Amino acid sequence: MSDDTTTGPDRPVLEIDGLEVHYGVRRRRRRALHGVSLSVAPGEAVGIIGETGSGKSTLARAALGLVRASAGSIAVDGEDVTAHGTRQWRALRRRGVVQYVFQDPLRSLDPDLSIETSLTEPLLIGGATREEAAARVRGFLPRVRLDEDLLGRLPGELSGGQRQRVAVARALVTGPRLVILDEPVSALDSANRVQVLEILKGLRADGVALVFISHDLGSVAGVADRVAVLYRGELVEAGATRDVITAPRHPYTRLLLGSAPTLRGAPADRAERDALRALLHT
Ligand code: ADP
Ligand code: MG
Repeated sequence: MSDDTTTGPDRPVLEIDGLEVHYGVRRRRRRALHGVSLSVAPGEAVGIIGETGSGKSTLARAALGLVRASAGSIAVDGEDVTAHGTRQWRALRRRGVVQYVFQDPLRSLDPDLSIETSLTEPLLIGGATREEAAARVRGFLPRVRLDEDLLGRLPGELSGGQRQRVAVARALVTGPRLVILDEPVSALDSANRVQVLEILKGLRADGVALVFISHDLGSVAGVADRVAVLYRGELVEAGATRDVITAPRHPYTRLLLGSAPTLRGAPADRAERDALRALLHT
């Protein structure tokens, strides 16, 4: 047996090592990510949590080739994508290796295309015939609890919850190895949030790996096997979801848990929270 973990069926679908991302140039240059390392195994769901501005979307963008790494490396399904240009990224996406879902489904869906066209398009690009694509889409709809009646409509004619379920379907219908979801439930009301979280949980059975990004640990907890905590562009804690919730090691994680009191069954002590906040912001 080989001990080379970069090849073979068990190699990580996403491997990020020492990632640095900067925005802006010269004096306006700002570091958004610093020394971030993360490995996601096939079929694994990893949650990334952190407050607004901690670098979560930057991490998603880097893993999707939408922003360049200033240092470090990124490999997707064993392929080093660190220096990939637009064309190579397009080829990777066409092969359906990695897909994405953003907070606002209108960003992942063309407003002028019917739901059916939006859903069949990635399959047609992947080489399916029209009949195959149509059948696959119809077969997939129950997984995201959508009705066939919706196929002829435009995104603007759907509710926010339905639209996000279409975006999830579009990302998953091609059977990708990895899906990156950046705040997929943050814009939804609580009923739709619960529904999308249940759908994501159900999709785990397909063996797809998920990177589930949220500012809310509570949303991630039911779906992710592991969570990593981003704070000011650095990963400060990572571990099995249950361990991070029951025995957080970093003060920032405790602060995040304090704002999700239902997770530990007791309301967070206000004084403790204020103390942690003061500690973190000095
Ligand atoms: P999050 O998704 O956790 O809210 P982001 O990754 O969006 O965090 O942002 C991380 C940091 O990078 C923030 O300080 C933000 O202001 C900055 N930033 C994000 N996008 C850009 C951009 N396009 N240009 C300049 N700065 C950016
Ligand atoms: Mg963000």
